[in-house]
Amino acid sequence: MGTHLSATVTEGRAFMQVIDGRQADALSGKRIDVFCPSDGKAFASIPAAGRSDVDLAVTAARRAFDEGPWSRMSAIERGRCLTRLFQLVEKHGDELAALESRDTGKPIRQGKADVLGAMRYYEFYGGACDKVHGDTIPFLDGYTALTLREPHGVVAGIIPWNYPLQILGRVAGAALAMGNTLVVKPSEDASLTSIRIAELALEAGFPEGVFNVVTGYGSDAGAALSAHPLVDYVTFTGSPLTGTAIQQAAALNNRGVTMELGGKSPQIVFADADIDAALPVLVNAIIQNGGQTCSAGSRVLIERPIYEEVASKLAERFSKLVAGPHEADLDLGALINPKQRERVRSMVAAAREAGVAVLAEGAIHPDALREGYYHRPVLFGSVDPSAEIAREEVFGPVLALFPFESEEEAVRLANGTEFGLVAGVWTRDGARQHRVAKRVRAGQVFVNSYGAGGGIELPFGGFKKSGHGREKGFEALYDMSATKTIVFNHG
Ligand code: NAP
Ligand code: MG
Repeated sequence: MGTHLSATVTEGRAFMQVIDGRQADALSGKRIDVFCPSDGKAFASIPAAGRSDVDLAVTAARRAFDEGPWSRMSAIERGRCLTRLFQLVEKHGDELAALESRDTGKPIRQGKADVLGAMRYYEFYGGACDKVHGDTIPFLDGYTALTLREPHGVVAGIIPWNYPLQILGRVAGAALAMGNTLVVKPSEDASLTSIRIAELALEAGFPEGVFNVVTGYGSDAGAALSAHPLVDYVTFTGSPLTGTAIQQAAALNNRGVTMELGGKSPQIVFADADIDAALPVLVNAIIQNGGQTCSAGSRVLIERPIYEEVASKLAERFSKLVAGPHEADLDLGALINPKQRERVRSMVAAAREAGVAVLAEGAIHPDALREGYYHRPVLFGSVDPSAEIAREEVFGPVLALFPFESEEEAVRLANGTEFGLVAGVWTRDGARQHRVAKRVRAGQVFVNSYGAGGGIELPFGGFKKSGHGREKGFEALYDMSATKTIVFNHG
């Protein structure tokens, strides 16, 4: 990893959007301050795009798809562009990790892990481009029928603030591999690395207009992008409420969508589990990124005979967790913004008031500035499955424990929320591993492990309110393309 972008280089920098291969300010000239969650101070700014900026970006992407050299490029050449982008992300890895950590408040090692994830997306999809095959279909006598996978056209990607580098990688990697062009709107709370990646994409040889980034508020730029009539497909990661708004906007143009809308993911710990192996994984699954992870393991269901033991061992670990500034690289950093901290605070307060037992709390480092958006980790025990804290996504470092009596009850509790994104099953019983993995309604099930956000090769997405469509792995290439059937009558 090469260049290091020191704090002084970023200091006060007026970042620009990337539209049609060029840097672009907002047409209005309006800008948004960029805050570091660790100290609450503004350190840079981004353009506040409106409808006309979005229109410029979508028009550029449309032109690049309809007329540009991109549409004539072979899959092999597209793969090489993605591979060069992978190499450039690697070369600028230290810079990107530092920028991501400062922009989002995540510990620096998480910023580095995100860079590795982003690299893997561009590497994986660079290699996958020329490996997507159609079929030949037995049809009537005298005919040959075959299928091609064709790009949708202009893909709009609306990216949240929790893992911008990684989520951009999974969206852009798959969309570009299939020959789409792209307009990305990152969250105004975390746009900087998306801008840098779009700049690197130009260096990697993506033609002008293929990879555009507009920055601004969701209610302005995001809404304009998802409703734009020249957009062919919309992919979104974020809250179910915003997901509904985006689907309604896309529905006005009858466009397809992929929705990744978070979860309330359970881990089920049976009495025969290897508890020592499970404990660090159970803690990490909720503490990673301060719990601001769509696939966070936010509920732990524990079989009654080991409930007290597991609860007290988790409490011991929780009481030692420390939140602090991203540079200090502690267990967790600050939350993304004051609004998110308030959401976590109010959900924790409501649970306390309702009498849910707090088994342990972590700490905020004494050197952490009061102006930072910190929240201490909280462990709730014996939670009633109908409580808000048991059903709603907190998106913070808050874990809820539930005892259960039988496999039947464990499955019922696991499936007892409106979400269905990821699940973990901890047991040494092989037959039970298979039974429970099949009965739990989740897009990914990990047995004796848990991957909060990990595994770029693994298809990922939700059931129920967690969304629809699949990202990651080879499967994302199908979401990012459509089948065309061609029938030849040759007699
Ligand atoms: P959000 O509203 O869903 O925001 C996610 C993205 O959507 C951001 O880029 C946002 O832009 C954009 N957006 C907002 N309104 C839009 C609209 N009408 N049209 C198009 N785009 C729009 O999430 P949030 O308010 O930041 O966080 C609230 C909760 O959402 C969290 O507590 C968490 O539960 C959930 N969440 C889940 C994930 C996930 O990975 N599944 C990620 C983030 C949040 P701006 O940020 O610029 O407004
Ligand atoms: Mg920020």
